[in-house]
Amino acid sequence: MTSPSPNSNNDTEGEVRRQLTALLTAVREMNPHGTKPIPTNPSHFNLLARPLRSTTACRICNLPGHNSDSVDRSPMCRSAILSLIDFWEDMVEHIRYLYANSERFKTAVNASTATYEMRLDSSAKIGGAMEEVVVHSLTRNYLKWQSHSAGIRPKAVRILMAGDCGRYERVTMTLNDFLLDGKTRESFRLLEFGVDGCLANWLLVSQLFEESISEEKVHAE
Ligand SMILES: [Zn+2]
Repeated sequence: MTSPSPNSNNDTEGEVRRQLTALLTAVREMNPHGTKPIPTNPSHFNLLARPLRSTTACRICNLPGHNSDSVDRSPMCRSAILSLIDFWEDMVEHIRYLYANSERFKTAVNASTATYEMRLDSSAKIGGAMEEVVVHSLTRNYLKWQSHSAGIRPKAVRILMAGDCGRYERVTMTLNDFLLDGKTRESFRLLEFGVDGCLANWLLVSQLFEESISEEKVHAE
């Protein structure tokens, strides 16, 4: 067995730093001081990074930066939804690399527990090691996206095209595994029962909700 040369160790360390910096940049945009203006044609842009104000959101898709007046003529809604899918696909690449190459990041992911509360802008943030803060902030924002997607599901299935739904499904399957403690297994079970992929993922949010209710019951008893 050959051990890695010092150079390849340095390469990995450098790449871990670069990947972690990319996630940190995304997380920084999730706090009010780090927000960037919303581009006219959002692409790979996290439209849910900042707190959502219903007054400035599109009344069809509830995302900021544009306004559509009909669910059947809403290319801007589709662009906005796709921008979020692009953004999270980018996050998956960073998360996947760091999980495989950074013990600290992997530990932070494995120790993180998602709760239904975390979907809210007002939910508590945590302090701690950089990796823990990054994983916690990403999980909060991921749940916010899932919760938003659940809220617009009936419209989204009309706005999106068939291939879009497949991308949404793949990226959420992967992120459920990393950030929601393997909840993908549950959506696979739903797929076996013939529930369509998009719906299976949308149901995960209600599953977290039910878990939080039963937790409350346990604490109350
Ligand atoms: Zn819209």
